[in-house]
Amino acid sequence: MRTVFLPFSTPALGDEEINEVVDSLRSGWITTGPKVKRFEDAFKAYVGSPFAVPLSSATAGLHLTLQALKIKDGDEIITTPMTFASTVSMIILAGATPVLADIEQGTLNIDVAKVAEKITPRTKAVIPVHFAGQSCDMDPLFDIARQHGLTIIEDAAHAVGTEYKGRKIGSLDSISIFSFHPNKNITTGEGGMVCTSDESLAEEVSLLKFHGMSREAWKRFASSGTPNYDIMMPGYKYNMMDIQAAIGIHQLPRLDGFIERRREIAEQYNLAFADIPELALPGYAQYPQRHAWHLYTPLIRIEKLSIDRDHFMAELKARNIGSGLHYKAIHHHTWYRDNMPVSDAELPNASYASERILSLPLFPAMTDTDVGDVVAAVADLITTFRR
Ligand SMILES: *Cc1c(COP(=O)(O)O)cnc(C)c1O
Repeated sequence: MRTVFLPFSTPALGDEEINEVVDSLRSGWITTGPKVKRFEDAFKAYVGSPFAVPLSSATAGLHLTLQALKIKDGDEIITTPMTFASTVSMIILAGATPVLADIEQGTLNIDVAKVAEKITPRTKAVIPVHFAGQSCDMDPLFDIARQHGLTIIEDAAHAVGTEYKGRKIGSLDSISIFSFHPNKNITTGEGGMVCTSDESLAEEVSLLKFHGMSREAWKRFASSGTPNYDIMMPGYKYNMMDIQAAIGIHQLPRLDGFIERRREIAEQYNLAFADIPELALPGYAQYPQRHAWHLYTPLIRIEKLSIDRDHFMAELKARNIGSGLHYKAIHHHTWYRDNMPVSDAELPNASYASERILSLPLFPAMTDTDVGDVVAAVADLITTFRR
C-alpha cells in the first residue's frame, strides 16, 4: 500500500511561474496591469477568441455575463444537474429560474434532446457544461438556440484546451467562461476568463468587472495615462491581479503538454479497468473532439458491491488515495430539495450518476507509479467488497 497520500489533484507550478510572481511583487505593481494584459492576449490567441475578459473567477464570469445579458426575474435558463454549484447559483441569484435538463449516459454531458423539451416562451439561455473536459454536442445546441432565439453560455470551467470538431472551446460563436482554480487544467491561483465574439458584450462585462469604470486603473497611473476616470454604470470588483496572471502566463504554454499527460493517464486507467464489471468507465462522444481530460470519472456499480460510493471513497482514502466528487447532482443538494424539488424520475441519468460517480487522481505530475497505486487500490477495494 502507498505510504504517502496521493491527492486527487495538485497544480503543476514551476520556477517560471514562481519567478514571474516574484517579478510582480518586486515591480511595485501587483494588481491588474501589464501581466493581466499579456495573459489576456495569450489566452485569446490560444483559444482563438476575438474578445476575452480576465476575471477573479469563473463564478464572477457567470455573474457578469448574466447581468450583461439583462437576465431578470421570471426568465428561465436551461442547464445540467451535473455541474458545480456556481453554474446554478448564479442563475438563481440573477433572479432567473434554473431548469435542469438530464444528461447523456456515457459522456455525462447535457442531452440536447432534453434541452429541446424544456424550452418555454420564458427560456432565455442555455448553459451547457463541457463535463470533465469533453465537449458537448454544440451544433445541435446552436440549431435549437437559433430556432428559439436563445443565448448559449458555455460553462467551460473544465474545457481549457477542449476542441469541438477541430475548433477550440472559446472560439465558437457564443460566450465561454473558463476557470483557473488550482484544480483546473491551468491555474492562476483563482481566476476566470469570459471569451466571446460579441464585442459589446465583452465591453459590458469589462465595465461591470471593475466599478463600471471607463479606464483600467493601471492605465490611469501609468505615465501615459491621466488620473481622471468616469463611472459608466455601477459595477463590481472582479478584476484579475497581475500576481494571478503571472502564474497563468507560464501555465498556458504548458497546457498542451498537461493535456497530453492527462490523456496518457486516462488511457492507463481505461486499460487497467476495462475488465472490472463493477466500474462503468467514462464514455466518449461520437463526434470529433479533443478531450481535455480535466477529470477521470468512472461510475461505481454499487449494486455489485456491499458498500456505497461515499464508503468507497473513504476506503480509497484509507489506502492513501485521494478522490473527488464531481458531482453530486444539483437537485440532490439540500437547498434545491427544499426550494426547487425535482424528482429523480425527471432526471434519471443524472440521479444515477450522482450516487455512483467519483473522480480518481488525475494531474500532469502524476507518475506511472502513482497511476499503478490508484489501480491497485481500486482493484483491491473491489475484490474486498464485491458481492
Ligand atoms: C470550477 C467550476 C466553476 C467555478 O469556477 P471558479 O473559477 O472556481 O469560480 C463553475 N463551473 C464548473 C463546472 C466548475 O468546475
